[in-house]
Amino acid sequence: MLKLNFKKINVLRSLKPRIFLIVLIVGLIPCMMMRSAILQNYETRAVSVRISDVQAQLKILTNHLITYRYLQDNSSEVVNAELDQLSNLYNGRVLIINNDLKVVKDTYGISEGKTIISEEVIRSLKGENVSQYDSTNGYIEMTIPIMDTLAPTGDDPVPESILAKGVMLISVSTDNISTTMGILSRQAIVIEVIVAIVVFIAAGFISYALIRPFEKITDALSQVKEGYTNDPISVTDCLETEHIGDAFNKILSRMKVLNDSRQEFVSNVSHELKTPITSIKVLADSLRGQENVPIEVYQEFMEDIATEIDREDKIINDLLALIKMDRTSTDLNISQVDINMLVEFIMRRLRPIAIKRDIELVYESIRPVTAAVDEVKITLVITNLLENAIKYNKKHGWVKVTLDADYQFFTVEVADSGIGIPADSIEHIYERFYRVDKSHSKEIDGTGLGLAITRSAILMHRGSIKAVSEEGEGTTFTVKIPLTYISVT
Ligand code: ADP
Repeated sequence: MLKLNFKKINVLRSLKPRIFLIVLIVGLIPCMMMRSAILQNYETRAVSVRISDVQAQLKILTNHLITYRYLQDNSSEVVNAELDQLSNLYNGRVLIINNDLKVVKDTYGISEGKTIISEEVIRSLKGENVSQYDSTNGYIEMTIPIMDTLAPTGDDPVPESILAKGVMLISVSTDNISTTMGILSRQAIVIEVIVAIVVFIAAGFISYALIRPFEKITDALSQVKEGYTNDPISVTDCLETEHIGDAFNKILSRMKVLNDSRQEFVSNVSHELKTPITSIKVLADSLRGQENVPIEVYQEFMEDIATEIDREDKIINDLLALIKMDRTSTDLNISQVDINMLVEFIMRRLRPIAIKRDIELVYESIRPVTAAVDEVKITLVITNLLENAIKYNKKHGWVKVTLDADYQFFTVEVADSGIGIPADSIEHIYERFYRVDKSHSKEIDGTGLGLAITRSAILMHRGSIKAVSEEGEGTTFTVKIPLTYISVT
């Protein structure tokens, strides 16, 4: 039972039966409403036509009743014949009642001489035409006053003093109206059944036609999911499916790009990690292959081996830093940091390296800056940029750091008088393992990961980094970071 209900709910969750039901209901309900409205309208009209017909005839008859003084003497054959004819014509019964409420004539001959006290009779005695339709028993009962032609008649009540001479009561059968209604109703049902069949087929067709494009796109998506194809999806049956297809194709191509870049990253990592190991192996093998190697050669080779180990260590450390940056920004440890002090501290640490390479370090602070940042990560950013500016510099060169801020951001500018970056390389420098000139970079220590780490750290702070460079002239990196940290979550 429970299972059946679940099944029912699942069936209605699908769009196809829903559309089918909606079309069916929208098609059938107006049809049914129209049938009952037409039948009802016919009935009211037929009954009112019958009432006015009969009333017109009764009016003529009441004049005859007065003329033949029928209320005093009911023996007039002319009137009796007219009354019988009327009774037969409408398949009903006619009663003539005088103003003493006595039945003067009953065409059924049952109630003559009896007294009738009913609301309708009394109202008619006061001059009113009363009619009542009893649809269940199939007749209309009418009472009309028998007035002297001089007295006022009609629907308007008359003063009690001008009472009618009597009342004519007639019950008229409405069998023929019911029969016509029956015929009409049967015809309407036949039409309704035809309409129902047509609507049923139309509902099936419409729901199929509307859902078909979605089924097609589901099939296409499944094909991609199952791995049968990698082709872009295109279901042009309707605009909606076209949009779904386009959106999916975009996701697919983005995934391909991500996958490619991941594969490239993995192969780069293995290559970069292997290079120092290969060098170490070559150095070690050449030592092992020689006999009686002088101690100086040993020392020289051992130094080279140690350098390669340092390089391997640096690559591993940089990789770990990069992986850390790739995590979500919830890993940020935000605090209010005095950026002036931070820059000064980093410059003090790097000054010995700069002096060693005969490079002048200049710091210009436009204004004091305090910002909500992750101190460790921002230290890494400034250190990387400064280290690069020193590394890729020329003899007797300079590096200038400028700190400024507006009401929203602070900017750190690191300018150098170094070798510069070629225009076609500038867009690649943030890629992992990218180094501008591999052969020339070999002399300068580096992993190609520094700027990738730097950029990730800046993006985590919702900041930006920009490089402007002139080959042989120098490079300027500008980092812009919001003063207050805005978390996305
Ligand atoms: P690396 O470890 O090689 O320094 P980075 O990611 O820090 O790696 O930098 C990528 C490349 O960008 C460097 O190899 C270098 O060719 C170039 N580069 C970075 N900074 C500078 C600079 N200040 N001047 C010239 N070239 C630079």
